[in-house]
Amino acid sequence: MTAKELPQGTLEIGLTGGIGSGKSTVSAGLVKRGAVLVDADAIVRDLQKPGKPVFKKMVERWGEKIITNEGELDRQAVADIVFKDAEELAALNEIVHPLVREEIANQREKYIKGNDPIILDIPLLIESGYENLSGIIVVDLHTEEAVERLVKYRGFSREDALNRISSQVDREERLSKADFVIDNNGDLDSLENEIDKVWSWIKGLSA
Ligand code: ADP
Repeated sequence: MTAKELPQGTLEIGLTGGIGSGKSTVSAGLVKRGAVLVDADAIVRDLQKPGKPVFKKMVERWGEKIITNEGELDRQAVADIVFKDAEELAALNEIVHPLVREEIANQREKYIKGNDPIILDIPLLIESGYENLSGIIVVDLHTEEAVERLVKYRGFSREDALNRISSQVDREERLSKADFVIDNNGDLDSLENEIDKVWSWIKGLSA
C-alpha cells in the first residue's frame, strides 16, 4: 500500500539520518509523545534470526563464516564483508530489501486503523525512494561527531564507523530531501528540545 491510499487523517512521516545520527533516540522520543513506530532496523534484526528467510539466504551466499558459535548471525563478520565492497553490499541489499519492504508494508497497514502519526524509521529511506509521505525528518550530525559516538557508545572501530557512513547516501543529499531537520550536534537535553519542536510540527501537518 502506498501512502496515497492511506485513509485521510493518518500521518506518515519518514525518519532518517546517517548511522549514529540519533534516529533511535528520536524515534523513542516520538513514541513517548504518542507516535507509533515502524522500525526498519528492528525488522531487519528479526528477519536475520536463525532459520528466518533472510538468515538462510545470507548463509547461502557467504557460508558458515557469517555464523557465530552460538548459531546466530555474526554481524561483525557481515560488516567486514559488505562495508568495504560495494558489490557485496549490493548483494546484501538484494537479499534484505524486498523482505523488509514487505514487512514494513504489513506494519503500516496495521497502524493505519488508528489516528496516531506513524513514524517510519528507515535508515535507507532516501536510497530506497519512498514517496508520498506526509513529511521527511532528517536527523543531522557532523560526520566526525557521528564517528565519535559510534566508537564511544556502540563499540565500533573508527575504520568500521567511517566505512559504514561512507556506504550511505551523503549528508548533503539527505538534507536536501528533508522537510524538517533535527540538529543533533548538541547534548541529549538539546535533543529533547528538538524532539518537542518536531512533535509540534508533526501535529500541525495534515495528511
Ligand atoms: P542511530 O539510531 O541513528 O544509529 P542512536 O540514536 O542509536 O543513532 O545514537 C547513537 C548513540 O549516540 C547512542 O548511544 C545514543 O545514546 C547517543 N546519542 C544520541 N544523541 C546524542 C547526543 N545528542 N549526545 C550524546 N549522545 C547521543
